[in-house]
Amino acid sequence: MNETEDHVMNDAILPPDYPITFPIFQTSSYLFPEGKKYRYSREANPTVEELERQINILEKTEKSVCFSSGMGAITTTLLSLIKPDDKVITTLDTFARSSRFIHDFLGKWGIKSEICPPGTENLLNSINEKSTVLVETISNPSLRVYDLKRIAEKVHSYNGILICDSTFATPENTNPADYGADIVIHSLSKFISGHNDVIGGSASGGSELMEKIDLMRRTVGTNMDPNTAYLTIRGIKTLQIRMKEINKNGISVARNLSSVEGIEDVNYPGLENHVDFEYSKDHLKGYGGVLTFRTKKKHEDPYEIFKLLKRVRPANTLGGVNSIIAHPKTMSHRSLTEEELSILKIDGQTYRLSVGIEDAESIVNDIRNAL
Ligand code: PLP
Repeated sequence: MNETEDHVMNDAILPPDYPITFPIFQTSSYLFPEGKKYRYSREANPTVEELERQINILEKTEKSVCFSSGMGAITTTLLSLIKPDDKVITTLDTFARSSRFIHDFLGKWGIKSEICPPGTENLLNSINEKSTVLVETISNPSLRVYDLKRIAEKVHSYNGILICDSTFATPENTNPADYGADIVIHSLSKFISGHNDVIGGSASGGSELMEKIDLMRRTVGTNMDPNTAYLTIRGIKTLQIRMKEINKNGISVARNLSSVEGIEDVNYPGLENHVDFEYSKDHLKGYGGVLTFRTKKKHEDPYEIFKLLKRVRPANTLGGVNSIIAHPKTMSHRSLTEEELSILKIDGQTYRLSVGIEDAESIVNDIRNAL
């Protein structure tokens, strides 16, 4: 256990009677005036506050705020930072709901939006005035890795704000604030909680920006509930050990799948032939648990493989202890046009695999047998 983890685990602001596990404060309100620090659980809740304290340590920021979902974190953060005539930029490979929010919703409300093609150079070329920029450390599901340092420098040269969604990397593999990101977002529904049993989100950054975001959260009501906070705190207890195993499995499964007959190619940020491998090496301590592969055969029914898998489970999520497979074209990225999918190099033969903590060989064998 490193020093940061030690701090996360041991420095909780303990409630009365010193329980060793931080309790769930399942209450909507607090006695007045004695409980006026928390007042009402949409505003603040001790269990949620404890999770925020832990995420803040993990992301090495000044203040963290938790939300009802990753999308709650993204939408509330953007709504609190921008006004009509401002510009928001993201790349096409950003999680589809995030880019849809920027383009379809914010665009309608007088905010200029630009969704540029994937890749650091394309994004850098798009930043030529004061902008709020949203980028993913490792994008879903194209798995592009971004040069956050250069992007932050360009964004800041115009006094803009860089928001980095680091869901796929987790704080175990990188801290975007170290590279200049102003706000770090997580969908806590994935690796951080780690057991596919919660939906939650977080935003972390400097106190001044985070105060604004917290005020918007209290107003739009995208607050996290205490049960979710409790389960996420429990997940964080094993985050380091899970990510260690997942990083190890990720690279092993990626390398071994590359030689499976029936697989055309494998895309993983830790492979030497990955388009952004230089940035991966520079920004990531481990390459994470998500990879994509393309089958050689065009399956009439893309779910045919799902039915033959015995260990890897098909689902619309990722980041748990069990390996999960998805078909982006018809599942997570079904809202994209054929043209957008082709820019992202996603077609009917593309599958996204989230590697869990099972034995790596058994994951590869399961896919080999299904193919
Ligand atoms: N950001 C990324 C990179 C995601 O993959 C997702 C969901 O898959 C989200 C944000 C949205 O998070 P949530 O599902 O918790 O709202």
